[in-house]
Amino acid sequence: MAEAQIPHRVDATKLVEHNQQLRAAINSSDLPRLNEAVDQCLAPVDCIVSFEKDAERFRMIVGSCSTRVVMTCQRCLGSVEIAVGSQFSLGLVFNDEQARNLPKRLEPVEMDENGVIDLWSVLEDEVLLALPAFPTHPESECQIQQPEPEDIISNEKRPNPFDVLAQLKQK
Ligand SMILES: [Zn+2]
Repeated sequence: MAEAQIPHRVDATKLVEHNQQLRAAINSSDLPRLNEAVDQCLAPVDCIVSFEKDAERFRMIVGSCSTRVVMTCQRCLGSVEIAVGSQFSLGLVFNDEQARNLPKRLEPVEMDENGVIDLWSVLEDEVLLALPAFPTHPESECQIQQPEPEDIISNEKRPNPFDVLAQLKQK
């Protein structure tokens, strides 16, 4: 499906004024930090972003991103396909002071003095934040052999029945 490309750098203040909504797929090969963080990107990053002002007049980007990647399962070290999805509400600010005054529900994104942001980089950040810190297969699909229940028990320190008796006698 041919969709309009989301521009790399945008004038965020202007887009807020126009209440602009953008929808596009960013080629994952154009997002170097995402490529670095995963073994493989299986799909473009699908993004919908809306530039708006909320009731308190804060400039915001509200949106979502999704894609599919391959990461290394931290249990069996095999490849695992991960569906990544992120929803975010960002507050557009010009400086640290404005960032501190944002309500907690808005994550600050700093514009340059002309109101310009690197939109791709902002969206890439959101995808990176949505990646699991500890990717694993679902337990039934993981290739590692789960230890047998007996092994677990024998490895555990079982209370010695004589110790228990000794404790009882001391009471
Ligand atoms: Zn696994």
